[in-house]
Amino acid sequence: MDDQTRCVTKSTVSFRGYESLTTPICRASTIRFPNAAAYGARHSRDVDGYIYGLYGTPTHRFLEKTLTDLEQGARTVLVPSGQAAIALPILALVPAGGKILLPDSVYPPVRDFAENELSALNVEVQFYDPTDLLDLQSRIDRTTDLVWIESPGSTTMEFQDVGEIARIAHANGALVGCDNSWATPLLFKPLQHGADIVVEALSKYISGHSDILMGSVTTSDEVLGQKIKAAAGRMGLGTSPDDCGLVLRGLETLYIRLEKSQASALKVARWIAAQAVTKQVLHPALPSCPGHALWKRDFSGASGVFSVLLEEAALPHLSHAFDVLESFSIGASWGGTKSLMVPMPVESDHRSKTWQGPDIVLRLSIGLEQTDVLTTDLARFFGELDQRMARGADAGLTSARLG
Ligand SMILES: *Cc1c(COP(=O)(O)O)cnc(C)c1O
Repeated sequence: MDDQTRCVTKSTVSFRGYESLTTPICRASTIRFPNAAAYGARHSRDVDGYIYGLYGTPTHRFLEKTLTDLEQGARTVLVPSGQAAIALPILALVPAGGKILLPDSVYPPVRDFAENELSALNVEVQFYDPTDLLDLQSRIDRTTDLVWIESPGSTTMEFQDVGEIARIAHANGALVGCDNSWATPLLFKPLQHGADIVVEALSKYISGHSDILMGSVTTSDEVLGQKIKAAAGRMGLGTSPDDCGLVLRGLETLYIRLEKSQASALKVARWIAAQAVTKQVLHPALPSCPGHALWKRDFSGASGVFSVLLEEAALPHLSHAFDVLESFSIGASWGGTKSLMVPMPVESDHRSKTWQGPDIVLRLSIGLEQTDVLTTDLARFFGELDQRMARGADAGLTSARLG
């Protein structure tokens, strides 16, 4: 063969005896077909076969299969972000002019999506009280296509009764989807509690190192899964095999990372609860957390993400207190190895219907640092708050400006 052609020709190499412990990273846009007839029939092939890079390579199949097994579902579809994993099943399953019920505590970008894209499709969107089954019952009817669940709710940590909500939804002919990013399938399996669809923001705990954006949609039913997979293809939602390999690597330590974050977060939560300026710590393992009983009944543990409510008088000083943090980073996308803390606006996300607490809530994600390092940092933070409150030194920052 001439050199020019040799450069672009794949050599024949044996894989015999290559039994590695790792997942192969298979990159491809083009898939080669044995003949024209096979190419012509490519879309009627096995749904897990290989057609084109957009629909996945063996690396994708490894991740899909592992997630399907962990969720105890029938099929998993991978998409480029957790947000896409929520938007995709909604667009695939709720028709123009249809109806969807979202919990009032839903991840704020989902509210945005509903108020823009879904409104443009004339979809009726109603926000229900995440902890009030009677409120859900008063809004649901035979025209409802999908009931969405997020348990616990973003920032405000409402735990939802997935089993009861699924029963009510199914009695009305509606499907049930659940965002399980906080718990991961290791701590809660929504499909086992009646949900039809479970979504994970793989960007968070499952990849676990703050360097990946990906999401998964797993269905309890094969037909439903194929419907969502087909819609993902039509919308062009593909993921990189390199990223899938990194998620699979993250998955190998998920159990031990969660175990460690859980233990550290509980220590930190108890330490914060003992501070004078703390009004309430929303960590489900603390009996004072409203979701405690449901969490205890349904979940096998807590991840490292929780929220803190402070006395109103502390809120104007928050910005200065955040400035003294050294170990905690200020930033979004929790579930990594490094601890994060952010001031989250609640009312200005116009989520006030079911929220009686202060407008700004501290959102913490506890990583893998030594807990003493974290409580020392928090002592600086609370010390700064105390000092400024004692001085009555109002920096003139309103909580609204922080948001
Ligand atoms: C972060 C997050 C998402 C979205 O994940 P991305 O990969 O960042 O798009 C969805 N749901 C919840 C509960 C989240 O916290």
